[in-house]
Amino acid sequence: MHTILQLTDLVRETVKDLKPYASARDEYVSDGSSMIFLDANENPFDNGVNRYPDPYQHKLKAVLASQKSVAEENILLGNGSDEVLDLIFRAFCEPHQDAIITLPPTYGMYKVLAGINAVANREVPLTADFEPDVPAIVEAMDMDTKVVFFCSPNNPTGNAFATERIEAVLARHKGLVVVDEAYVDFSKKESWVSHLKKYPNLIVTQTLSKAYGMAGIRLGICYASKEIITVLHKIKPPYNVNQLTQERALECLSDRATVEEQVELLLKERQKVMTGLKTIPFVQTIYPTDANFILVKVDDAEQRYQQLLQHGIVVRNRSNQPLCHNTLRFSIGTPAENIRLLTVLKTIA
Ligand SMILES: *Cc1c(COP(=O)(O)O)cnc(C)c1O
Repeated sequence: MHTILQLTDLVRETVKDLKPYASARDEYVSDGSSMIFLDANENPFDNGVNRYPDPYQHKLKAVLASQKSVAEENILLGNGSDEVLDLIFRAFCEPHQDAIITLPPTYGMYKVLAGINAVANREVPLTADFEPDVPAIVEAMDMDTKVVFFCSPNNPTGNAFATERIEAVLARHKGLVVVDEAYVDFSKKESWVSHLKKYPNLIVTQTLSKAYGMAGIRLGICYASKEIITVLHKIKPPYNVNQLTQERALECLSDRATVEEQVELLLKERQKVMTGLKTIPFVQTIYPTDANFILVKVDDAEQRYQQLLQHGIVVRNRSNQPLCHNTLRFSIGTPAENIRLLTVLKTIA
């Protein structure tokens, strides 16, 4: 096993030497007493959002820290997990020099962000059963490989990866390992957040966009070592999580019962949709899923996609992804929407 490099060896030169922007609210943090704020050129008349939001989102982090059993210093929040992923590139990947490893078929943003940030994207396809190909990943790693991206449960295949496979890469990789857990709340597998202490090079991303039903507020969460979080904080836009988002997220997190009920219901619905799909003659394979969507192989994905569209149902055609020829991805909807989906599938069969 290689030793893990010092984190400073992974940080981009420009970021290492960077003195971050100091906002008005960095210089004076309110202690709650009634101070007069004449420091940030805000409009003083209270309308609920006339003040800049807390740049470090302390209240929100305190709730997340207690719910996830981590320290606040292990959390960074972003404008969606897409911003978190972009910050990881900008903090650690030297443009025109470094590389990342992604495992297609997977979430498309890693590749797009690599392109934007001029970082080489080495693609190591999943195995036929949609698991990480560890020997091939190790083969593809070199000194310039800064990040390996795992999406688990994986979008669009739906499965959570075998723990031992991610562990094997964590143990061998000298750079960072990101586990994107956008769908973890639908999975029976344990979150990687509980392994942060063991792996200083591990970054776990989560989001309120999927199970929590808050895609519209844009809140992404990054869990990692204090050292990694400090670097990411240094480069994030000062007020990247707005006041309304922070308030709405706090409300949502304080009502865990609703989220848990909805997840429970969606898992039951997922089972119903699975059962229904088995009776559709043109459905050839229903892939196992740990997420709130199902990938299926059909006879002719483009034709079926168009037919569903004509009946007013929008699904995702994933056929252009490797290993996904003629596949459609169905998100689990409300009970009525799922019944409608199955009815239409029967009609067009
Ligand atoms: C939907 C999704 C995200 C996006 O999350 P946001 O927080 O809405 O930006 C991230 N990763 C995966 C795998 C997703 O499917």
